[in-house]
Amino acid sequence: MTDLNLDVFVYPMEPYNSPDPPGPGEVVTWAPMSSTLIAGPTEGVLIDAMLTTHHADAIAEWAKTFNKTITGIFITHGHTDHWGGGGQLLTHFPDAALYAAPEVAARAAWEAEANKTSKYWSSRFPGQLTDPPVVPELYPSDGILVDGEPVNIIHIGQGDIDGSVVFHVPSIDAIVAGDVVYNNVHMMFFEADEPKRDAWIASIDKIAALNPKIVVAGHKSVGAADTPDHLAASQQYIRDFSTVARRGGSVEDLVNGMLELHGKRDQNHTLWISARAEVARRRAARS
Ligand SMILES: [Zn+2]
Repeated sequence: MTDLNLDVFVYPMEPYNSPDPPGPGEVVTWAPMSSTLIAGPTEGVLIDAMLTTHHADAIAEWAKTFNKTITGIFITHGHTDHWGGGGQLLTHFPDAALYAAPEVAARAAWEAEANKTSKYWSSRFPGQLTDPPVVPELYPSDGILVDGEPVNIIHIGQGDIDGSVVFHVPSIDAIVAGDVVYNNVHMMFFEADEPKRDAWIASIDKIAALNPKIVVAGHKSVGAADTPDHLAASQQYIRDFSTVARRGGSVEDLVNGMLELHGKRDQNHTLWISARAEVARRRAARS
């Protein structure tokens, strides 16, 4: 068995066109994002395509330095900031296709359709998206081969959205986790209420049971190590968020409570988004 190689590219935090007026101390940036190259002697696959054409160009410039034939670009979950750059990436890698597992492809197609009217993504990154987007095509198997070596798709379920998958590289005990694991970046709970967060913790247990030596988070700080301790750290962050949220109080109370515990993480804007969504959910549940 030949060991595959894994390398990670991170696009740093950048300003974007947010519709929400910022809270005190809130810095409005898009989260840092990762794209991963899993490669053998001649072939490689990319995991996640980020969002804009400039993200895709940056991934391609980096990936080309490895001199591999890119045979596929695979997506971890349907949030558009993980596949929207796919159309532009394909222009750089003509031997590749943009692939996703059925549950991921379905959510991606739904987001592409919803954006036509909501403009959720195109208003946040005006003029920076492939239009119309190239939506991932269905990848019908759980087994990917890179120079004959397996990369397995695991249907993990709940991450920052349900219908997430992670990629397992058995030869090097690596997991490419998408938004099931975060690395030194505030975690997104816009769509994840407390029951979903409990399911998310269970998803991370399933990854931990594989005993990975390498864990790549979909959102990670530039230069952060891809170590397995981010599994437990992500679970602790989720638990702490639920504990602080259960105290009640305002959005600012929740933000400040989390910053006391996790203030060293990047991307406080994501914490504000999570807190606004959580406080709104709790208010709606009471009324
Ligand atoms: Zn994401």
